[in-house]
Amino acid sequence: MSVFSAPYFHGHEQVTHFHDRETGLRAIIAIHDTTLGPAGGGCRMYPYRSDDEALVDALRLSRAMTYKLAFIESHFGGGKSVIIGDPRRDKTPALLRAFGRCVERLGGRYTVGEDVGISVEDMEHIREETDYCVGLAGESGDTSPPTSFGVYRGILAAVKHKLGRDSVEGLTVAIQGLGAVGYRLAEYLAKDGASLVVADIDQGAIDRAVDHLGAKTVAPDKIIAVEADILAPCALGGIVDDKSIPTIKASIIAGAANNQLLEDSHAALLAKRGILFAPDYIINAGGALNASDEGPDYDRDAVYERISKIYDTLIEVFERADNENRSTVEIANQMAEERIDTKRRS
Ligand code: NAD
Repeated sequence: MSVFSAPYFHGHEQVTHFHDRETGLRAIIAIHDTTLGPAGGGCRMYPYRSDDEALVDALRLSRAMTYKLAFIESHFGGGKSVIIGDPRRDKTPALLRAFGRCVERLGGRYTVGEDVGISVEDMEHIREETDYCVGLAGESGDTSPPTSFGVYRGILAAVKHKLGRDSVEGLTVAIQGLGAVGYRLAEYLAKDGASLVVADIDQGAIDRAVDHLGAKTVAPDKIIAVEADILAPCALGGIVDDKSIPTIKASIIAGAANNQLLEDSHAALLAKRGILFAPDYIINAGGALNASDEGPDYDRDAVYERISKIYDTLIEVFERADNENRSTVEIANQMAEERIDTKRRS
């Protein structure tokens, strides 16, 4: 598949494929837009079924980063990288170092952080070969705790807007995926008195939520359609599509996963069904906000104060969507593009 005719190619500036003979590394770095600054975005390692699937993921994720970083007024533009491989089987220090050399070769056009399949510990191997990395141990650290906090604040905003309530107490939240972000989110919600229904493909993750948070559990293929007030997708993207939309019982979808909608147009279908959708690149921006601030002046409390404002940003998006009778995604995309245009013209 040619990059230029690939689905989800949206004027990306640069897409580079890398191969390392010694380690077998196969990686793609996609730079979507550098109007706001050099590209920043996580690296995902995943056992893609094909190179095309990996390319499409890199294209979609990097565009979402552009919008996410525009919303948080970051000095980074949008980029993302993917490593093709199973992190549990194929990830080695040598492979991560080889990837670090790929980042270095781009000479600062792209700065990498962690994403699914790449941990803070993995970043230590990558940083041996390049300074263009964030989310490092001893610096701003793991992005998942600030991401979870932002998603929690976003859920509160959605609950306020849709249900007129100030708390999740007594509400049922269905969480798909209890990984680094999903589990911490579950902790916040359980502490506030929400009932949890959870699903994961990892039995250990489920057991922990059942034992420590009193969660109920359903099979992974049942979580999207489960009876709940809020559906919080915290696993992988593309779960909201023509097939799943008619089955969703929750009146709110608000979670951490990137690219939850298979297509942006699915937001309109959700709105038609009266389901409030919190655009993912706004609600899950806490980690990016934290990593963007990495440096000598990093102030955790100040960053968390800004993450807290994801609440206000989402309320603005929800209200505009209602007033203009458009989907939350249309409104969010327009707001992000306006910010980028303003910068381009300045
Ligand atoms: P993670 O890999 O730690 O957790 C993902 C969890 O989902 C795992 O427990 C996994 O077993 C589970 N899972 C996978 N497939 C599943 C399925 N079909 N059904 C149910 N569970 C399934 O990842 P994470 O860091 O928690 O990130 C979760 C999502 O949030 C990802 O989409 C990621 O891109 C997004 N996100 C993460 C961050 C961050 O800072 N970590 C920031 C922004 C967005």
